[in-house]
Amino acid sequence: MTDFFHEGELAGVLTTQPIGRVLDYKAPEGGCMTGQFVEVPLGPRKVLGVVWEKGRGDFDSARIRSVIRVLDAPAMGAEMRAFLERAAAYTLTPMPAMLRLATRAPGLGDPPAMRKVYRLGETVPSRLTASREKVLAVLEDFVGLSFTLGELADQAGVGASVVKGLVAQGAVREEDTPRDMPYPRLDPDLAGKDLTADQAAGAEALRAGVRSGQYATTLLRGVTGSGKTEVYLEAVAECLRRGRQALVLLPEIALSSEFLSRVQARFGALPAEWHSGVTMTERRRAWRMVGEGQAQMVVGARSALFLPYRDLGLIVVDEEHDSSYKQEEGVLYNARDMAVLRASMAGAQVVLASATPSLESWANAQAGKYARIDLTSRFGPAVMPRMRAIDMRTEDLPRGTWISPTLKAAVQARLEKGEQSLLFLNRRGYAPVTICRACGAQIGCDNCDARMVEHRFLKRLMCHQCGETKPIPTKCPACEAEDRLAPVGPGVERMAEETAAAFPEARVALLSSDLYGTARQLKAQIEEIAAGGADIIIGTQIVAKGHNFPLLTLVGVIDADLGLQGSDLRAAERTFQLMRQVAGRAGRAEQPGEALLQTFQPEHPVIRAILGGDEEAFWAAEAAERQAAGVPPYGRLAGIVLSGTDVQDVFDLGTHLARNDGPLRRIGAQVYGPAAAPIARIRGRHRVRLLVKADKGAPLQAALAEWAGQVKLRGETRMAIDIDPQTF
Ligand code: ADP
Ligand code: ZN
Repeated sequence: MTDFFHEGELAGVLTTQPIGRVLDYKAPEGGCMTGQFVEVPLGPRKVLGVVWEKGRGDFDSARIRSVIRVLDAPAMGAEMRAFLERAAAYTLTPMPAMLRLATRAPGLGDPPAMRKVYRLGETVPSRLTASREKVLAVLEDFVGLSFTLGELADQAGVGASVVKGLVAQGAVREEDTPRDMPYPRLDPDLAGKDLTADQAAGAEALRAGVRSGQYATTLLRGVTGSGKTEVYLEAVAECLRRGRQALVLLPEIALSSEFLSRVQARFGALPAEWHSGVTMTERRRAWRMVGEGQAQMVVGARSALFLPYRDLGLIVVDEEHDSSYKQEEGVLYNARDMAVLRASMAGAQVVLASATPSLESWANAQAGKYARIDLTSRFGPAVMPRMRAIDMRTEDLPRGTWISPTLKAAVQARLEKGEQSLLFLNRRGYAPVTICRACGAQIGCDNCDARMVEHRFLKRLMCHQCGETKPIPTKCPACEAEDRLAPVGPGVERMAEETAAAFPEARVALLSSDLYGTARQLKAQIEEIAAGGADIIIGTQIVAKGHNFPLLTLVGVIDADLGLQGSDLRAAERTFQLMRQVAGRAGRAEQPGEALLQTFQPEHPVIRAILGGDEEAFWAAEAAERQAAGVPPYGRLAGIVLSGTDVQDVFDLGTHLARNDGPLRRIGAQVYGPAAAPIARIRGRHRVRLLVKADKGAPLQAALAEWAGQVKLRGETRMAIDIDPQTF
């Protein structure tokens, strides 16, 4: 629905400022239309807004101010506006915050102008200094993207004069381009790979979905390396043929140039990118071109869902089980669920791809809400790795070491054959705990209920909750004993140390997100390793995601029991997914792979399921447990987190809420708590959580809104509502 407002008529404008509701403004000279981006006065400031609806006229008309100007930006379509409304209602997010998510484009509304951008030139510079090399490396890494002078210098970590020097030599080209250059055309009719019969059937089913022009969701399940990407790229091709836009979401897009190269190989050009590693110039360009319908395909992180697509025909959520799709700060949303919502409103198809689907998606497929395609074997000669437990109760290890003799022998065998091994431990840093040998005290964070983790590489202790660091003390903060502090337990840095000692002749590479200043450096390191730059890789979960290491034939999991502790109902699901993903890194090319899991409880049902590989049985058992507990996907949950500086205040507020649960009782929901939140204190703020459990069909959001609406938050106290919390 589009309304036109003549000059002076009242238009309701939604702004990005936290002021609750749509505000009335008079239309400017020349009028304005719903969906248009405008600048409006708010107090002494000028703020961004979107013409949302007819003005209400319930405000003293003499005091109503006028829209300052209509901005030169593609208007927001009715479908996008409706999507934001629905997403806000689902996540109980105020509309201004929702609009902020959708307008994360710098310089929105600035007039298009010419600007200088920098690209790789043809000439090799006569003198290659270290700083010059950095600039060229950035340009080589991001072929296809353009940088302004400032952005390029920043990315490379050099001064602007270095870039200018390279321009003078012809090694870097300086070009005048319009600010928002269109993307090169993608050609869906270039030849794809010859698909296997299984793959071809899957691709045809997805293409038929795209052709229908209707909404549907398909779970595309297949072991790592089975060709899921090849298959869903065919759905993208069909979408492009029909002139509709396609979005592919990836969990670690900032690290993955492999995927982009595959898109380029398939369609002859690079797609639009949207993630934290992309420059402001490119963000602005992507936002605008998506809004104008010029960008045919977007590859992005979860926030790419909130771009203003003209005509979205397909959303692929790759690695759909990945927990990073859940945004845990600000607007709390799960990109997988929002993708389904958005697609259902756009008449678009959703493809959820994973080797280890989330229980939610598995259950939806089981119930017939989603279609399901299974790719059961790896492409070509590659076979799934053999998986085996190493029973740590029977292994003989010196104190303070974690690589069992059995695992050591397996690594040694790979070294002799010139193959790579990966030792996986999902723990950053050197040691998770620093303990005083004199008094037993553990060093904790001053601001959080968390232990400080020793990071020897950074020579500091770090809190993984709030990021606070401090120097490693020599004296115990509790009993003041000198030199009695000792690291307890392994982190990846300590594993690297043990590995280097055990295999002095091997090249050991450590992959952990905190060791690299930028995503670009980490990406470069991953690529070097994939090309054979290391014999043994020590890694955190960063290695579990999507990268191909063709020479890797052994995966050793240092502590397969790590994720099984704790009371989180999702622990089994997470461990199962992570272990199967990590194991899937081994043996992707011609060499068969092997995965060895060090465990103290080889008979644990989850460990047995991981080893046995009967996934259907595992999901069915998990599903039965969730059903019995009445939790997602068989019931509904919401978490209410109250936080503040005074622990008593926060608990009192929680108790008050729990006692006044009328709106929730009316829909048959139950309230649990208040209890300390999974992390009871972050950055000096105490956190208390209430959990609300309701039946699947219950109108949970409406009841929650009414319930939470009863409280007046005083001073420092905050409330966050988390629909479908990740931990429960
Ligand atoms: P997944 O996404 O399931 O992990 P990919 O699509 O990445 O699997 O496929 C794994 C590897 O096998 C990739 O290098 C891919 O190019 C290759 N591959 C898959 N199917 C085919 C095919 N039909 N023809 C040629 N190569 C293929
Ligand atoms: Zn902290």
